[in-house]
Amino acid sequence: MTMQELNEAVNKRRTFAIISHPDAGKTTITEQLLLFGGIVRQAGTVKAKKTGNFAKSDWMEIEKKRGISVTSSVMQFDYAGKRVNILDTPGHEDFSEDTYRTLMAVDSAVMVIDSAKGIEPQTKKLFKICKMRGIPIFTFINKLDRDGREPMDLIAELEEVLGIEGYAMNWPIGMGKGLKGLYDIYNNRIELYRREDKGETFLELTENGEIAGDSALKEESIYTQVLDEIELIKGAGSEFDSQKIAQGELTPVFFGSALTNFGVKTFLDAYLQFAPAPSAHKTSTEEKIVPTSAEFSGFVFKIQANMNPNHRDRIAFVRICSGEFVRGMDVVLQRTGKKLRLSNSTQFMADTRENVETAVAGDIIGLYDTGNFQIGDTIYTGKKDFQFEKLPQFTPELFMRVTAKNVMKQKSFHKGIQQLVQEGAVQLYQSYSTGDYILGAVGQLQFEVFQFRMANEYNSEVVMTPMGQKTARWIDPAQLDEKMSSSRNLLVKDRQGAPLFLFENAFAERWFKDKYPNVKLTSKL
Ligand code: GDP
Repeated sequence: MTMQELNEAVNKRRTFAIISHPDAGKTTITEQLLLFGGIVRQAGTVKAKKTGNFAKSDWMEIEKKRGISVTSSVMQFDYAGKRVNILDTPGHEDFSEDTYRTLMAVDSAVMVIDSAKGIEPQTKKLFKICKMRGIPIFTFINKLDRDGREPMDLIAELEEVLGIEGYAMNWPIGMGKGLKGLYDIYNNRIELYRREDKGETFLELTENGEIAGDSALKEESIYTQVLDEIELIKGAGSEFDSQKIAQGELTPVFFGSALTNFGVKTFLDAYLQFAPAPSAHKTSTEEKIVPTSAEFSGFVFKIQANMNPNHRDRIAFVRICSGEFVRGMDVVLQRTGKKLRLSNSTQFMADTRENVETAVAGDIIGLYDTGNFQIGDTIYTGKKDFQFEKLPQFTPELFMRVTAKNVMKQKSFHKGIQQLVQEGAVQLYQSYSTGDYILGAVGQLQFEVFQFRMANEYNSEVVMTPMGQKTARWIDPAQLDEKMSSSRNLLVKDRQGAPLFLFENAFAERWFKDKYPNVKLTSKL
């Protein structure tokens, strides 16, 4: 690929995640986007993964039973001259660490909000991470075909609760049974509501924003009401400002109904115009890596084992940050300094996996992994040694002791634990005094998935004993004296061998601090 070809290819990329509180309609809108992308599948098939039609591993059964998305997946398609990469994120809050890491791998985010519910807790959490990263956020307020809250009210809540300016790209004309259409401020037209199987119908607007020709809509009171509202927001609302969008300070707001595919195409078209192409990525130093650099680089943001139960495989998901990936290329794995040949790779197109020959900055590739990679690893070509900025880490709050049910099956027990821990599914600790395995997680569901996967993928039944909530605090090994440990502050070591205390509660921690005032405790390594 010449430099010019690389430039063009990178600038065509649009890589984003869809975030939402569970049930706001993320899956439904993703499905519609895939349809626009010409990925030939019937609406309903993204959902179908929950009923087991897909070659996903058995532990997805948990997802099926609970009706939540547990894993993140990657989907790619071409649309309107752009190459779109959508990174799916698990909706359930117990998997927020996974979602946070995924958000490190995207250039923008789409936030889906249920028009009847407004900003929900999980939306708020995920939004915060996007904001921290300063990535552009686009908002889709969904389910207009149902009665929801007033649009003015929803935008006000967005601004108040999330602290971001909202700019209405369009405005609903009615809602629920009374939904007539969308007043499309950005395109200066009205999009009439219609049944899903009919194409879009647009009404032209005059320069002063009224319907140009004849239309029954002109007689409806809702139409005059919307004209008044539009006047109001044009006067008092935020100004459209692409600079602010790029910095994540203003979010363009679109209304629509994913289920009836209404307003989704209008959203996608505008979104792709304003969503950023891949930009420079931060390293652990001040320096940034530009996407169009001739050298290839990327980082592992997710590892997943056994995606296909027929092949016991493990895939490391890599966000390419610069240059071009060519199958069979040699890269340096920064953590070890060792050379690796990337011969076996895959790219994701919804459910089907295709072997990828080339990919460029902005794309996500999956590398078949035999245990080389860890989450957060940087890989690169060229002479310069660098590491991309650290991925966010959570300090676990829930702990469980774990043992193999069958003592004769230690081997599969250890193998399973090692692999699932490398994936970041749970954290692993070991008691200093007894050597017992202790698992740490942010949410209870992580343990359940762990237990399920151990049995299904590694044929290892595990016994888990809850230890409840603990506060994890690391201690400098030089200051450690094993006598400091008591029943209220269990001394353990993490996977890297670093010592930490698991405090029973805040009282136990305070007591410890009073007793050892010179000992420094930290909540993260
Ligand atoms: P997710 O949990 O965010 O992925 O949400 P889903 O896409 O699974 O949607 C949750 C539920 O809301 C499903 O029953 C959908 O059919 C329904 N839903 C999604 N979008 C719409 C919409 O635009 N209108 C209506 N009425 N229902 C919707």
